[in-house]
Formats: sequence, structure tokens, C-alpha cells
Amino acid sequence: MAMTPEGRERPLVKQEPGGGDLALINAVCPGITVTGPAPEDTADGHGFDDMWGPVGTMVRGYSGDPEIRFRAAAGGGLTGLATFLLESGRVERIAHVTADPDRPMRSRATVSSTPAEVLAASGSRYGPAAPLVDFMALLEDGKSFAFVGKPCDVDAIRALEQRDPRVAALCKVKLALVCGGASELSKSGNILARHGVAEDEVTLFRYRGYGNPGATRIETRDGRAFQYTYNEMWDDESAWQLQFRCKICPDPIGEHADIAVLDCWPGGGPTGEDAGFNAFVTRTAAGDAVFSAAVDAGAIIVTDAVTERELDDYQPHQVRKKRALHWRLKAMADAGALTPRFERLRIESFAAPEGSEVAARNRDGMADRIAQGKTSEPEARRELHA
Ligand SMILES: Cc1cc2nc3c(=O)[nH]c(=O)nc-3n(C[C@H](O)[C@H](O)[C@H](O)COP(=O)(O)OP(=O)(O)OC[C@H]3O[C@@H](n4cnc5c(N)ncnc54)[C@H](O)[C@@H]3O)c2cc1C
Repeated sequence: MAMTPEGRERPLVKQEPGGGDLALINAVCPGITVTGPAPEDTADGHGFDDMWGPVGTMVRGYSGDPEIRFRAAAGGGLTGLATFLLESGRVERIAHVTADPDRPMRSRATVSSTPAEVLAASGSRYGPAAPLVDFMALLEDGKSFAFVGKPCDVDAIRALEQRDPRVAALCKVKLALVCGGASELSKSGNILARHGVAEDEVTLFRYRGYGNPGATRIETRDGRAFQYTYNEMWDDESAWQLQFRCKICPDPIGEHADIAVLDCWPGGGPTGEDAGFNAFVTRTAAGDAVFSAAVDAGAIIVTDAVTERELDDYQPHQVRKKRALHWRLKAMADAGALTPRFERLRIESFAAPEGSEVAARNRDGMADRIAQGKTSEPEARRELHA
């Protein structure tokens, strides 16, 4: 994987993939295809919501460990669950991402086998992150593990699971954060530029956590520190600098996860700092079993139940994206652009009605992007940053 000059992490083709590898990549890559969970496979007692897909237990809560709750991105739900999975012996390792120790603005895949390592990798990493780079090696190692990552990462794992029996045997639990999209690294780089800091001077780049949401904090070798509030970073959606695939994401809500974990600020954003809360949505019978055991063990504290319509209120940008998606994809197809194959994700049934302002804005906006060349990668890659 290499970082492009635009600040996107992309696979660098060293040699033509052989032995069926390309067919496998095409079958599992969530940039090419995502097929949602089948409503008829919904676990006993679960519902199926047009917006949220398979839903079982839907509650708010937080990690029972105060240090996890403070240091993690929100309420420490993911770190609390991952720690419980390790400590209860359900899995031997956790595959997720962490700050690159040498270049902490960047993220890299990591495998944690102790609670301390899981905690060290807590927090949201808002730039590019490729947690699956070593996934095949994990399957070859033969040790059990749980995966924590973005919905697209979990979609790829589920697609591979249908083709490789080692996935179900070893990757026993899949946890997803609900995701508004991955920014280009240049979003982070622009902050350094604002302060005249070079990337090799940075010793800490924490995107959030140490509070909920906590500040984006940068520290340098010579003792300088810069902080931005969450709203300074993310209030203006047009400045998120999202990668293109995220703008047409058919599953930002972790439909294929065993448990999806999200922020739960009413109205969609924080009005200040709080003690740290998550909403949790179990999606499979395996997710139900892990979640109730974690609650029984005190690893997760539940405060109250939530409904699908409260989830809409916590995540208004996800509802907007779901209504827009059909029109964005249609503009791509109409322009003859390569379009991904997204199935069973209620993209048509949830779409804003034809003739509506939302439909027109999203169709026309995508047509403009295509005309400006913003929907494809530059072909020349000679200046790749290692
Ligand atoms: C790019 C991005 C966009 C997000 N958008 C939304 C959103 O729209 N709505 C919402 O509710 N929440 C969003 N989140 C998630 C939110 O920030 C919290 O992470 C989530 O609520 C879980 O909180 P927590 O306290 O349980 O996480 P923690 O306990 O801190 O655990 C976070 C876990 O996620 C892993 N992780 C962090 N960043 C990445 C990454 N980039 N790729 C893969 N794995 C990662 C870490 O390794 C860690 O295991 C986003 C996170 C990211 C990284």
C-alpha cells in the first residue's frame, strides 16, 4: 500500500496478480461490490429497518472501565468489547489500527494481544487506514481473532468469508464503527501546514478521545502543542475532504458487523464535552451473545434503549447519504463511468423521490464531479510517497 500525492492510501501493483488473486480481489473489494445481509437471514428476534438494516439490541452505554471510557473515541464501546473478548478468552488477538509510531499523523494495521495494546490503539483515526493489509497472514497464522474496523472493512471480510472457510473459523467477531467517511491525509497535513510544522516533527497526532469527543491534538518534538475542537474539525461537512468511494458508500453503518457502534449525540453532533457514550446495534446472533456477556461481566454499562428513529437523529448525515446514493450512482451510470455493484442495500427504496430537490442536487453534483475528473484516480503515480 502506498500514500498517493493526494493523500489516499492505494494498492501499488508490483506485478500482475496471478493464481486467481485478481478474481478474488474483484469479488471481495468493497470498492467494486457490496451485497448487504439478506433480510431472511435476520437473527431470531431481530428486526429489519429500511435505513438501519438488521437490528437486534439497540441501546446506549459505555465501557465499564473508566480509563477506556476516557481515552477512547466516544464511550469506549469498541475498546471495551475488544478487551472483553480477549480477557474472556473468546479470541486470542484483536486486529485493528493504531497510530503509526514513527509518523503518528498516519495509521497502520496492528494486532493486539493484551488489553494494554487494545487501549493504546483506541480512538478514531480519521485519515486513510488499511486494517486488512495483513489479513491473509492472520488467516495463515491460525490463531483466533476479533476484527475492529470500518463498515467497508467488515464488508470485505464477509465477502471473503463466503469464499474462504478460515474466516468464519478464526475471525470470530466482527465489530464496526459507524463511519462518515475517510478523509484524505491532506486534511491532516493542512493542519500541520497552518502551523508551519513538518510531518517528521510530529510526536502525537490524536484525532479525538481523552474526553468525548475530545480534541484533535498535535504535539511536536520541540514541545509545541496545537488543539482543535471536534466541531472545528468536522462541523462543516463540505471540508471533510472525503475520498471518493466514501461519497458513494452503500454501507456506512456496519450492516455486516456482529455489532455496530456509533456516536449518539442528539441532532448529530456534540454541543460540548461529555463523559462518553456510544449507541450499540447488535446485528447477528453472535453479536447478541457477545454483547449480553459483555454487559453481564460489567465490561459494557447500558444506560437505556434506543429506537431506529433515534439512531436517525444521532446520524442525520447517514440518512442524507442513503437518500442521495441512488442519484449519485445514477449520474455515474448516465455518464458511462465505471459504477460499483451494490446490492440488497435498499438504495432504490430509500432514495429521495424523482423530481425532488435532493435528487436533482445529488445527480447534478455528481455529474459536475465526473466532468471535473474528481471521481477517478490520477493515472500517473510516479511521485508516490513511500
Ligand atoms: C473515519 C471515521 C469516520 C467516522 N464517522 C462516524 C460517523 O459518521 N458516525 C459515528 O457515529 N461514528 C463515526 N466514527 C466513529 C466514532 O468516531 C467512534 O469511533 C465510534 O463511535 C466508536 O467509539 P468508541 O469509543 O467505541 O471507539 P474506541 O473504543 O476508541 O475504538 C475505536 C476502534 O476503531 C479502530 N479504528 C479507529 N479508526 C479507524 C479507521 N480509520 N479504520 C479502521 N479502524 C479504525 C481503532 O483501532 C479502535 O479499535 C468514525 C470513525 C472514523 C475512524
